[in-house]
Amino acid sequence: MNEIPYIDLKTQHAELKPKLLDAIANVLDHSHFILGREVVEFEEEFARLCGTRHAVGVNSGTDALILSLKALGIGYGDEVITVPNSFVASTTCIRLIGARPIFVDVGDDYNIDPEQIEAAITPKTKAILPVHLTGRPCKMDAILAIAKSRNLHVIEDAAQAILAEYKGKRVGSFGRLGCFSLHPLKNLNACGDGGIIATDDPDLYKQLKIRRNLGLQSRDNCIHWSHNSRLDTLQAAILLTKLPYLPQWTQQRRENARYYQTHLADIPQLQIPNEGEGEKSVYHTFVIQAEKRDELREFLHDRGIGSAIHYPVPIHLAPVARELGYQKGSFPVAEEQAKRILSLPIYHNLTNQQLERICQNLRSFYGSANPSSSS
Ligand SMILES: *Cc1c(COP(=O)(O)O)cnc(C)c1O
Repeated sequence: MNEIPYIDLKTQHAELKPKLLDAIANVLDHSHFILGREVVEFEEEFARLCGTRHAVGVNSGTDALILSLKALGIGYGDEVITVPNSFVASTTCIRLIGARPIFVDVGDDYNIDPEQIEAAITPKTKAILPVHLTGRPCKMDAILAIAKSRNLHVIEDAAQAILAEYKGKRVGSFGRLGCFSLHPLKNLNACGDGGIIATDDPDLYKQLKIRRNLGLQSRDNCIHWSHNSRLDTLQAAILLTKLPYLPQWTQQRRENARYYQTHLADIPQLQIPNEGEGEKSVYHTFVIQAEKRDELREFLHDRGIGSAIHYPVPIHLAPVARELGYQKGSFPVAEEQAKRILSLPIYHNLTNQQLERICQNLRSFYGSANPSSSS
């Protein structure tokens, strides 16, 4: 029986190989490996895609977040509001610049619950850092309204959500800064690490270009203590090659999601993600909630079907976060979800036969009959 891996990068790269090799050969020919013209071109294309005036390519999504917080002058003694159910990097960035992460619990959509933000604000709060988890946009209207009335910055962690929309506007264009990861597992993926920051603000744009390059305003004039976090020209060339396919890949992810949504809706032991009013998700992950999650995962694994858990340990319960003083029970919704969530394969090159097999196996695990074929 053929395996259905959780992720399949090999097929993507086999299909694009001739074009990727051409792009790489071009870079070898001109040999401007650092901040070459492909970086500038990619930044321009990306900003257009995101609906912002500017974008700055950096080394990773994590660095995009760190540099964004620094560019806004956030640091020691400040507080930044975020969620405990994300990839650890969305909290790491806050701690690494010396600020304190303040967690707010999430809703059914796995995203920050705007109703609980006000209660977390103190005189030290400088910013809200919402994460568009799974590729589903956060409730940006409510978040922006709170930020405006309390004079807080909004920095979006859009690492999982490139091309996602809220009320017709692309994520990453709502806050002062929108941070994206181009990691191999993300929807738009480099062949290595990469990240990018989107912004409308010309001053932040200028500052970020300096900050990603050791704070060098010109070759011999350093104006910030900063690190080296440039996007490689080679990666930019690869990303430019893949970029034209992204809308189609995203559409395919959305169709795969629709398949699951129609074929799994009637299984009472499962909770299937949906899209709320005004939301367009890009399904970086397709995260269901399942009864007997661990047995289900084992069952699928034994039948050659990969799955994953994003993420099994809420950040506030990780060993590193003990110093923050949170406990079990601090964020009941995120903690309950962590026990039940399971990510199913959703990549763009998944076939209908594969989707069918995954759904059939979920059905047979729960002893659920196939829906009567009424068509
Ligand atoms: C992947 C990811 C990051 C970090 O991106 P890297 O490119 O791996 O540094 C940050 N936040 C979220 C939500 C992510 O999924």
